[in-house]
Amino acid sequence: MDCIAQCAYCRSSIVSGQRWVREKIYDSALDGRTPDYHRYHAEPLCGQQESCWEKHEMEREIARTAVYAA
Ligand SMILES: [Zn+2]
Repeated sequence: MDCIAQCAYCRSSIVSGQRWVREKIYDSALDGRTPDYHRYHAEPLCGQQESCWEKHEMEREIARTAVYAA
């Protein structure tokens, strides 16, 4: 199987045939205009309820809530 990319959440490979999501990241440490990309599994890995992408999204929701609560 061909490895397309590495999942930014679980750090394992995304291989051909798996669905995945690409997220555009702007790294403020650079000039803030050069986009970088994170890739995530879009389907749950075996034995798991949510995909890496969904877990990442949930973590972002939690982070956002924490900011508002501060
Ligand atoms: Zn993953």
